[in-house]
Amino acid sequence: MIKQEIDTINQILQKTNARLIAVSKYYPVEDVKTAYDCGQRLFGESREQELRLKQMALPKDIEWHFIGHLQTNKVKYIVPYISLIHSVDSVKLLEEINKQGEKINRKINVLLQVYIAKEENKYGFDEKDLLQYFSTKAYKNLDYINFCGIMGMATNTDDKEEIRREFRQLRKTFEIVKSSFFKDNHSFCELSMGMSEDFQIAIEEGATLIRIGSRIFQ
Ligand SMILES: *Cc1c(COP(=O)(O)O)cnc(C)c1O
Repeated sequence: MIKQEIDTINQILQKTNARLIAVSKYYPVEDVKTAYDCGQRLFGESREQELRLKQMALPKDIEWHFIGHLQTNKVKYIVPYISLIHSVDSVKLLEEINKQGEKINRKINVLLQVYIAKEENKYGFDEKDLLQYFSTKAYKNLDYINFCGIMGMATNTDDKEEIRREFRQLRKTFEIVKSSFFKDNHSFCELSMGMSEDFQIAIEEGATLIRIGSRIFQ
Protein backbone atom coordinates (compact mmCIF):
# COMPACT_ATOMS: atom_id res chain seq x y z
CA MET A 1 0.00 0.00 0.00
CA ILE A 2 1.43 3.34 -1.10
CA LYS A 3 0.02 5.33 1.82
CA GLN A 4 1.18 2.86 4.44
CA GLU A 5 4.74 2.78 3.08
CA ILE A 6 5.00 6.57 2.86
CA ASP A 7 3.69 6.93 6.42
CA THR A 8 6.15 4.34 7.72
CA ILE A 9 9.13 5.96 5.98
CA ASN A 10 8.12 9.43 7.16
CA GLN A 11 7.91 8.13 10.70
CA ILE A 12 11.47 6.81 10.41
CA LEU A 13 12.58 10.16 8.97
CA GLN A 14 11.00 12.21 11.73
CA LYS A 15 14.02 11.96 14.01
CA THR A 16 16.46 12.78 11.20
CA ASN A 17 17.03 15.69 8.84
CA ALA A 18 16.60 13.53 5.74
CA ARG A 19 13.79 13.99 3.21
CA LEU A 20 12.05 11.36 1.12
CA ILE A 21 12.08 11.38 -2.66
CA ALA A 22 9.47 8.97 -4.00
CA VAL A 23 11.01 7.42 -7.10
CA SER A 24 8.10 6.97 -9.49
CA LYS A 25 9.98 5.87 -12.62
CA TYR A 26 8.14 3.07 -14.44
CA TYR A 27 5.06 3.56 -12.22
CA PRO A 28 1.88 5.11 -13.64
CA VAL A 29 0.58 8.65 -13.12
CA GLU A 30 -2.24 7.30 -10.91
CA ASP A 31 0.29 5.95 -8.42
CA VAL A 32 2.07 9.30 -8.28
CA LYS A 33 -1.32 10.94 -7.66
CA THR A 34 -2.03 8.51 -4.82
CA ALA A 35 1.31 9.39 -3.21
CA TYR A 36 0.61 13.10 -3.80
CA ASP A 37 -2.73 12.76 -2.03
CA CYS A 38 -0.84 11.34 0.98
CA GLY A 39 1.11 14.61 1.12
CA GLN A 40 4.22 13.50 -0.80
CA ARG A 41 5.65 16.36 -2.92
CA LEU A 42 9.18 15.25 -3.90
CA PHE A 43 9.33 12.76 -6.76
CA GLY A 44 12.25 11.27 -8.68
CA GLU A 45 12.34 10.18 -12.31
CA SER A 46 15.14 8.85 -14.47
CA ARG A 47 13.90 9.24 -18.04
CA GLU A 48 13.25 12.61 -19.62
CA GLN A 49 10.26 11.62 -21.73
CA GLU A 50 8.44 9.82 -18.95
CA LEU A 51 9.14 12.75 -16.64
CA ARG A 52 7.82 15.26 -19.17
CA LEU A 53 4.51 13.41 -19.50
CA LYS A 54 4.08 13.14 -15.73
CA GLN A 55 5.09 16.75 -15.15
CA MET A 56 2.37 17.89 -17.56
CA ALA A 57 -0.28 15.58 -16.12
CA LEU A 58 0.27 16.19 -12.42
CA PRO A 59 -0.10 19.11 -9.95
CA LYS A 60 2.37 21.93 -10.37
CA ASP A 61 3.52 22.04 -6.76
CA ILE A 62 5.37 18.74 -7.18
CA GLU A 63 9.17 19.06 -6.93
CA TRP A 64 10.64 16.89 -9.68
CA HIS A 65 14.09 15.42 -9.16
CA PHE A 66 16.08 13.91 -12.01
CA ILE A 67 18.01 10.89 -10.71
CA GLY A 68 19.06 8.85 -13.76
CA HIS A 69 21.85 9.15 -16.29
CA LEU A 70 21.09 12.33 -18.25
CA GLN A 71 22.08 12.70 -21.90
CA THR A 72 23.26 16.18 -22.85
CA ASN A 73 20.68 16.45 -25.66
CA LYS A 74 17.85 16.04 -23.10
CA VAL A 75 19.00 18.80 -20.75
CA LYS A 76 17.07 21.56 -22.52
CA TYR A 77 13.76 19.80 -21.92
CA ILE A 78 14.07 19.56 -18.15
CA VAL A 79 15.78 22.82 -17.14
CA PRO A 80 12.60 24.92 -17.21
CA TYR A 81 10.99 23.04 -14.34
CA ILE A 82 13.41 20.60 -12.67
CA SER A 83 13.99 21.11 -8.91
CA LEU A 84 17.24 19.22 -8.61
CA ILE A 85 19.39 17.12 -10.94
CA HIS A 86 21.04 14.45 -8.78
CA SER A 87 22.99 12.69 -11.46
CA VAL A 88 25.57 15.07 -12.91
CA ASP A 89 28.35 12.66 -13.83
CA SER A 90 30.59 14.61 -16.22
CA VAL A 91 31.99 18.09 -16.82
CA LYS A 92 30.41 18.05 -20.26
CA LEU A 93 26.96 17.58 -18.72
CA LEU A 94 27.63 20.29 -16.16
CA GLU A 95 28.55 22.73 -18.92
CA GLU A 96 25.46 21.85 -20.94
CA ILE A 97 23.18 22.42 -17.92
CA ASN A 98 24.87 25.77 -17.37
CA LYS A 99 24.37 26.72 -21.02
CA GLN A 100 20.69 25.75 -21.06
CA GLY A 101 20.11 27.48 -17.71
CA GLU A 102 21.61 30.67 -19.10
CA LYS A 103 19.30 30.54 -22.12
CA ILE A 104 16.22 30.70 -19.92
CA ASN A 105 17.89 32.71 -17.14
CA ARG A 106 17.30 30.05 -14.50
CA LYS A 107 19.91 28.82 -12.06
CA ILE A 108 19.75 25.02 -11.94
CA ASN A 109 20.25 23.02 -8.73
CA VAL A 110 22.59 20.07 -9.17
CA LEU A 111 24.28 17.30 -7.22
CA LEU A 112 27.52 15.71 -8.38
CA GLN A 113 27.21 11.97 -8.73
CA VAL A 114 30.23 10.19 -7.30
CA TYR A 115 31.08 6.60 -8.09
CA ILE A 116 31.38 4.48 -4.94
CA ALA A 117 30.14 1.00 -5.93
CA LYS A 118 32.11 -2.10 -6.74
CA GLU A 119 30.21 -2.49 -10.01
CA GLU A 120 31.11 -1.44 -13.52
CA ASN A 121 27.65 -0.35 -14.58
CA LYS A 122 27.17 2.70 -12.36
CA TYR A 123 27.82 6.26 -13.43
CA GLY A 124 29.63 9.02 -11.61
CA PHE A 125 32.83 10.96 -11.07
CA ASP A 126 35.84 9.40 -9.42
CA GLU A 127 36.51 11.34 -6.26
CA LYS A 128 40.00 12.14 -7.53
CA ASP A 129 38.74 13.51 -10.86
CA LEU A 130 36.13 15.60 -9.09
CA LEU A 131 38.67 17.21 -6.76
CA GLN A 132 40.95 17.75 -9.74
CA TYR A 133 38.17 19.52 -11.66
CA PHE A 134 37.26 21.80 -8.75
CA SER A 135 40.86 22.71 -8.10
CA THR A 136 41.06 24.19 -11.62
CA LYS A 137 38.39 26.70 -10.54
CA ALA A 138 36.66 26.31 -13.92
CA TYR A 139 33.43 25.69 -12.02
CA LYS A 140 33.41 29.32 -10.89
CA ASN A 141 32.43 30.37 -14.42
CA LEU A 142 29.26 28.29 -14.30
CA ASP A 143 26.92 31.10 -13.29
CA TYR A 144 23.75 29.12 -13.92
CA ILE A 145 24.69 26.13 -11.77
CA ASN A 146 23.79 26.00 -8.11
CA PHE A 147 25.94 23.30 -6.51
CA CYS A 148 23.82 21.61 -3.83
CA GLY A 149 25.87 18.56 -2.86
CA ILE A 150 26.75 14.98 -3.69
CA MET A 151 24.87 11.84 -4.78
CA GLY A 152 25.87 8.20 -4.98
CA MET A 153 24.67 4.62 -5.25
CA ALA A 154 26.06 1.76 -3.22
CA THR A 155 26.81 -1.68 -4.61
CA ASN A 156 23.75 -3.89 -4.99
CA THR A 157 24.75 -6.47 -2.37
CA ASP A 158 23.51 -8.14 0.82
CA ASP A 159 26.78 -7.23 2.52
CA LYS A 160 25.61 -4.49 4.88
CA GLU A 161 29.11 -3.63 6.00
CA GLU A 162 30.20 -3.05 2.41
CA ILE A 163 27.23 -0.74 1.84
CA ARG A 164 28.04 1.13 5.04
CA ARG A 165 31.68 1.55 3.99
CA GLU A 166 30.59 2.99 0.65
CA PHE A 167 28.11 5.44 2.19
CA ARG A 168 30.75 6.48 4.73
CA GLN A 169 33.19 7.06 1.88
CA LEU A 170 30.61 9.19 0.06
CA ARG A 171 29.99 11.28 3.14
CA LYS A 172 33.73 11.82 3.46
CA THR A 173 33.84 12.98 -0.16
CA PHE A 174 30.98 15.36 0.59
CA GLU A 175 32.86 16.81 3.58
CA ILE A 176 36.08 17.24 1.58
CA VAL A 177 34.39 18.97 -1.36
CA LYS A 178 32.34 21.14 0.99
CA SER A 179 35.27 22.26 3.13
CA SER A 180 37.62 22.74 0.17
CA PHE A 181 35.35 24.57 -2.29
CA PHE A 182 31.93 25.42 -0.81
CA LYS A 183 32.65 26.33 2.79
CA ASP A 184 30.63 29.54 2.66
CA ASN A 185 27.95 28.26 0.31
CA HIS A 186 24.87 27.30 2.30
CA SER A 187 23.29 25.65 -0.74
CA PHE A 188 25.92 22.93 -0.70
CA CYS A 189 24.26 20.81 1.96
CA GLU A 190 22.67 17.73 0.37
CA LEU A 191 23.91 14.16 0.51
CA SER A 192 21.64 11.99 -1.66
CA MET A 193 22.09 8.30 -0.88
CA GLY A 194 19.98 5.29 0.04
CA MET A 195 17.29 3.34 -1.83
CA SER A 196 14.60 0.81 -0.85
CA GLU A 197 17.06 -1.82 0.33
CA ASP A 198 19.66 0.32 2.05
CA PHE A 199 18.09 3.61 3.12
CA GLN A 200 18.28 2.84 6.85
CA ILE A 201 22.07 2.53 6.60
CA ALA A 202 22.20 5.70 4.47
CA ILE A 203 20.32 7.65 7.13
CA GLU A 204 22.69 6.42 9.83
CA GLU A 205 25.59 7.57 7.67
CA GLY A 206 24.22 11.07 7.17
CA ALA A 207 21.94 11.08 4.09
CA THR A 208 19.80 14.19 3.66
CA LEU A 209 17.84 12.87 0.66
CA ILE A 210 16.80 9.24 0.26
CA ARG A 211 15.43 7.93 -3.04
CA ILE A 212 12.84 5.19 -2.63
CA GLY A 213 10.90 3.54 -5.43
CA SER A 214 9.93 -0.12 -5.24
CA ARG A 215 9.28 -0.14 -1.52
CA ILE A 216 6.56 2.51 -1.98
CA PHE A 217 5.06 1.65 -5.34
CA GLN A 218 5.38 -2.13 -5.65
C1 LIG B 1 15.48 3.45 -9.41
C2 LIG B 1 16.36 4.29 -8.59
C3 LIG B 1 16.13 4.45 -7.22
C4 LIG B 1 15.03 3.73 -6.46
O1 LIG B 1 15.36 2.38 -6.33
P1 LIG B 1 14.44 1.38 -5.48
O2 LIG B 1 15.34 0.23 -5.21
O3 LIG B 1 13.28 1.05 -6.34
O4 LIG B 1 14.05 2.10 -4.24
C5 LIG B 1 16.97 5.30 -6.52
N1 LIG B 1 17.99 5.95 -7.13
C6 LIG B 1 18.25 5.81 -8.45
C7 LIG B 1 19.38 6.55 -9.05
C8 LIG B 1 17.44 4.97 -9.21
O5 LIG B 1 17.71 4.83 -10.51
